Amino acid sequence: MKRRVFCLLLMLVMTTALFSVSALAEASESASAPVFDLEQGTVLLNSGYTMPIMGLGTYSLTDEECYNSVTALLEAGGRLIDTAYMYHNEASVGRAVRASGVPREEVFITTKLYPNQYDNADRAIDEALRRLDTGYIDMMLLHHPAHNDAAAYGAIERAVRDGRVRCANVSCYYIREIDRFLPKVSLAPALVQNELHPYYQDSRATQYLQGLGLAVQAWYPLGGRGYTERLLADGIIREIAAAHQKSPAQVILRWNLQRGVAVIPGSGNPEHIRENLSSFDFELTGAEMEAIRNLNRDEKHDWY
Ligand code: NAP
Repeated sequence: MKRRVFCLLLMLVMTTALFSVSALAEASESASAPVFDLEQGTVLLNSGYTMPIMGLGTYSLTDEECYNSVTALLEAGGRLIDTAYMYHNEASVGRAVRASGVPREEVFITTKLYPNQYDNADRAIDEALRRLDTGYIDMMLLHHPAHNDAAAYGAIERAVRDGRVRCANVSCYYIREIDRFLPKVSLAPALVQNELHPYYQDSRATQYLQGLGLAVQAWYPLGGRGYTERLLADGIIREIAAAHQKSPAQVILRWNLQRGVAVIPGSGNPEHIRENLSSFDFELTGAEMEAIRNLNRDEKHDWY
């Protein structure tokens, strides 16, 4: 009897594992690898849409500061804006985009659902659309893994099918999280947004995600508020910046771009916003890329 139960259990485990592996393979097979273009400053996503690889992060920017920062970005030629329900500034982002005179189809807007919205994700997507008031959302992310994330992602998939959202994506999904998540969804994400900077490079997860055909985008690309000063003062970064007559921030952003990682530096300072956008007119050498690679300390600056 015991043996029969054991065999049944074994069969169940094997069937589940086989199903997961084939769903994972399906997700990666259906995905074509993202095509990164440093000349154009864009990446062609597996969803078929082109996304700028340099944008503006709006975490902690309040109403007018957010409006002014998005305006400065668009005036300087930047076209990618990252916001979230949790940043409470989607309305300011939408207002600045509408006031800019830049055609809607030239702007790429990313927003996110927070776990406390996952149980009512269809409604949350409609509310984000109403707050942004930009017709559609280019990219909708799940902000964090959670027990009900696959169901919430299903709502984003429905929004992709009816054109309210263009790409479905996730954030804070590392190897374990993405392996658990992919077998549960039918539309492969186009992008994963994770913490990445010279002190936390997470090359293993980054390469793993890229290998699955997903674009990777760095949050906290400059280390995150409270850590930025220390990172920008790093001796190696400053030396490389001086050699190229660029700023330490530009060197860090450029390093990520050259390793195929898109960036969304946060800033409420129009000068910094313009400076960050100007990270395309120089190239780090192999030795400089290696020197920055050696700065990794596996030092994560946030818990998620
Ligand atoms: P960050 O980009 O690493 O750093 C922002 C800090 O860098 C600000 O204090 C900013 O100051 C400074 N800075 C920006 N450009 C600079 C420059 N050229 N020179 C000197 N200092 C400069 O951190 P973050 O804004 O928190 O993260 C980036 C974005 O990622 C966020 O805004 C958000 O959109 C996204 N994010 C996502 C998650 C997630 O869970 N998915 C988590 C965190 C963040 P000034 O304002 O003075 O320029």
